[in-house]
Amino acid sequence: MITDNYHIADQFSLLSKLMDIHGENSFKTKSYSIAAFTIEKLPEQLSTLPEDKIFAIKGIGNTIGKKIMEVLESGELPVLKEYIAKTPPGVIEMLNIKGLGPKKIATVWKEMEIESIGELVYACNENRLLLYKGFGEKTQNNIRETIEFYLRSQGSHLYAEIESYALSVDKKLKEYFSGNKFELAGEWRRQLEIINQLEWVTTADVAVLKTFFEKNNFTISAQDSGKIIFKGPENISLCFLISDDASFYSKLFQSSCSDEFREAWNKTFNEDGDGTYTSEEEIFLRKKIHFIAPCLREKASIIEKAKNGALPAVIQPGDIKAIIHSHSNWSDGSNTIEEMARACIEKGYEYLVISDHSKSAFYANGLNEERIREQHRYVDELNQRLSPFKIFKSIECDILNDGNLDYSDNILSTFDLVIASVHSNLKMNEEKAMMRLMRAIENPHTTILGHMTGRLLLSRPGYPVNHKKIIDACAANKVVIELNAHPRRLDIDWRWLDYALEKGILISIDPDAHTIDGYHDITYGVLVAQKSGLTPEKNLSSFNLKQMEAFLAEKKK
Ligand SMILES: [Zn+2]
Ligand SMILES: [Zn+2]
Repeated sequence: MITDNYHIADQFSLLSKLMDIHGENSFKTKSYSIAAFTIEKLPEQLSTLPEDKIFAIKGIGNTIGKKIMEVLESGELPVLKEYIAKTPPGVIEMLNIKGLGPKKIATVWKEMEIESIGELVYACNENRLLLYKGFGEKTQNNIRETIEFYLRSQGSHLYAEIESYALSVDKKLKEYFSGNKFELAGEWRRQLEIINQLEWVTTADVAVLKTFFEKNNFTISAQDSGKIIFKGPENISLCFLISDDASFYSKLFQSSCSDEFREAWNKTFNEDGDGTYTSEEEIFLRKKIHFIAPCLREKASIIEKAKNGALPAVIQPGDIKAIIHSHSNWSDGSNTIEEMARACIEKGYEYLVISDHSKSAFYANGLNEERIREQHRYVDELNQRLSPFKIFKSIECDILNDGNLDYSDNILSTFDLVIASVHSNLKMNEEKAMMRLMRAIENPHTTILGHMTGRLLLSRPGYPVNHKKIIDACAANKVVIELNAHPRRLDIDWRWLDYALEKGILISIDPDAHTIDGYHDITYGVLVAQKSGLTPEKNLSSFNLKQMEAFLAEKKK
């Protein structure tokens, strides 16, 4: 049992902060933080002092003295345990973010209803903090930067977050070790949404790699016969699978697929992973099977498909013809509708679907009926000026607690299309979540089901849903399922896309952009969509303007 003064002081310090978060009497909370400070500075260990001496310490007193005795006897502070039990772990974790004191955390939790660090950084990106007392633009930026740094130090990373790092390390390695082969493999090459470690297959010598990385302030975190893992100041694991020249492509292939795929492959072709090839393509040629790109090497079933014929060409970023799902400064976006539209034109998109928040999303300055009419007049005027480019009138309509949409049928029918999403009361069991989603899907005004589960990768699990039932219902009601391309959402999960495609459903890769820069997120949606074999014909945002107009006209019938 650790009952040194530091441990005891930490407990009082945490207690004081948690009580502050819960809005307890500040005189009381202050006495605990003073006690923590006093205990940390004591010259002797409390565990070596007799009880009466402890009670006599200046700044300790009767109440705190008793609590110290509890810690010394049991190793823990019961009142602290109570506070921990009634505070979400994500809220306690916020105490690690410099610049976020208990008062601000209380606002974040109680008023913004945010319960994890990942949700908080997402809210910063949506400018949501600015609406609350004590949060200016500068504070919001500081919080976002500190959190991003904190999250990076936790080991797992969003693909988008380490993209530039991965590419720059890869470039450096190829330059420095120009005589050796280096290829990125593993999770990165498979285009997974979360990367736990960057992995290379290389013909470089272990000793040379060691010298290189140690010189650059990396440490070795693991090593065995065929591989070595380094960790640098950025806290990202870099793993190197060492290969000889002959088996390089065999190793590259074997480390660029899921376990399920690898086992099925090796069983089917009686492979041991040590074959001699001059390229990955040659591996497929010699097995007389069509090429399977690394991003598709997930489910075993793809092997049978590739035996029977070439796999269809998957969607590419260049196949995206429009921005669907975007927020302007009418709700919580940063740019005007005109700026958003002009950025689309510049990037070669044919149309823009503006879908600001609906009236219940008060935190996001959602649009009431009057402002909708105003926005529609403005969009009509813009469309005249910007033709042949077109802005479609849409709304990201809240799915209310009872599954109804946020406006009357009359108002809903004034939009070209409606994206229905859940933004409130996210804590629900599957029964509740399904009731809300199914009612929204059955609503004839719903065109697209937005970010299906509400998940935020690495920070908030989605509410529980029955994916199959939702997909079946969307098929029956001709509702498009969004693949929200924000790198922290990527929701619907790509693992369900093949089932959706089997059911003939249209997917829509949407950036959910809150700024012009947000358009870039499309790329991350495309990368995961490729994993499911999605083709442009099955993606709504790949429809050109004519096809989109025809699609909407059909839906309005
Ligand atoms: Zn949304
Ligand atoms: Zn949105």
